Amino acid sequence: MNSVQSTSSITVAKFGGTSVADFQAMLRCANIIKNDTRNRLVVVSASAGVTNYLVRLSQQNVTVNEQKDIIESIGVIQVNITQHLASDVEADLNQQINSLLDELTQHALTQSLQYTSKTTDAILAFGEQLSSRIFAQVLQSIGVAGEYFNVQQVMKTNSLHGKAMVDIKQLSEQCSLLLAPKLLDKVIVTQGFIGQDSQGHTTTLGRGGSDYSAALLAEAINGDNLSIWTDVVGIFTTDPRITDQARAIKEISFGEAAEMATFGAKILHPATLIPAIRRNIPVFVGSSKEPEKGGTQIKQKVESNPTYRSIALRREQTLVTVKSPAMLHASGFLAKVFTVLAKHELSVDLITTSEISVALTFDNPSGSTQSLITNTVVAELEQLCEVSVEHGLSLVAVIGNGLTCAKGIGQSIFETINDINIRLICHGASANNICFLVAEADANSVVEKLHNSLFS
Ligand code: ADP
Ligand code: ASP
Ligand code: MG
Repeated sequence: MNSVQSTSSITVAKFGGTSVADFQAMLRCANIIKNDTRNRLVVVSASAGVTNYLVRLSQQNVTVNEQKDIIESIGVIQVNITQHLASDVEADLNQQINSLLDELTQHALTQSLQYTSKTTDAILAFGEQLSSRIFAQVLQSIGVAGEYFNVQQVMKTNSLHGKAMVDIKQLSEQCSLLLAPKLLDKVIVTQGFIGQDSQGHTTTLGRGGSDYSAALLAEAINGDNLSIWTDVVGIFTTDPRITDQARAIKEISFGEAAEMATFGAKILHPATLIPAIRRNIPVFVGSSKEPEKGGTQIKQKVESNPTYRSIALRREQTLVTVKSPAMLHASGFLAKVFTVLAKHELSVDLITTSEISVALTFDNPSGSTQSLITNTVVAELEQLCEVSVEHGLSLVAVIGNGLTCAKGIGQSIFETINDINIRLICHGASANNICFLVAEADANSVVEKLHNSLFS
């Protein structure tokens, strides 16, 4: 077995769900690791489809029969991979899979008796726990010294289930103690997305959170590079699923890529670049299916800073408009509104104000089944002002450079879509973006038209 040569440069490689979906996909990823000995720490997502099954399993209205079917389907995805390994390895892994699935069944039963967000997180974590064990063995099968590592030993978080915050200091300390020594002669395979609170309960960092886990780990182990391996050959000028005119970007600055992630480009979890920026760790994004095609380099300084870099789209936005004549020439009104929002842990995305009204947007993170703006929130706001809530909106963000001062921007962007009803526009706070809300039904055609006019 090849053991890893000690080199000064360490890359953290993250493989998303489609990259570890089946045996062939895992094998391609294993070869990516083998071909570059700088790859020492591997962070994996759950095999494609598994987290969605687990989300369904964790819901309140799932029937016992459905629970059984889901757990069986997850088992099938995983044993379809292990069957390609040597029979003793397969038997050992299948035993581990079965015992994890038994544990999962117990959690599902607990959840049907009493639904909690704590059990939801315990359930959601199984996808990564399964895929990481299997991937370590796929590495070994091609002669790489892969070893499974439980990330919960180092990824300590608060108890905010579903969007837990990581304790960066503990992560760094625990990594120095428990993880860094192993990287000297092994390729360590660990889980993205999951963590553990101070009482030992499993937590998760939010859907798509494996990118963020990988970036945090790269920071904590003083990694030199972070590679995000996914199903597209880099970051595109817009989501290639919306228009086939989208094209891959060779280089992009941290600032621009962070804006893209924040404004919904699914390619990166919104928080991914925060640790990378803190430590100036260059990030590569490429396709594990076609590693030879290269990808996008995200770094501090890039050669060109075009006015228009990309268009991002974030669906399922909620617009709340609060209106009160008491706001006119008065102070403290907004503070009261924000106190209510803070109490319910609601984070506001965009704000526009007029003399007596304020419009605020909120993100409904994908996977959440109900609006974050509950009747209780509305009732509390109504104590202060008139409130209206609109759903079914999408946020379109044009990302680039110098957007606060470049001339002709309004014309280039809004003339192209002058047949569309635009609900709210935000421009001015950041030189890197202009964003606006449109009806969900118009969103794809708005992005397509804008892309044609700004990038062709
Ligand atoms: P993974 O499972 O590897 O984390 P994701 O599905 O989370 O992969 O992210 C990859 C997907 O992001 C792509 O398949 C693509 O549809 C979508 N995407 C959205 N915006 C962009 C963009 N600007 N460039 C590339 N891909 C994008
Ligand atoms: N498996 C988790 C999800 O599907 C985390 C991730 O893939 O990044 O959201
Ligand atoms: Mg992702």
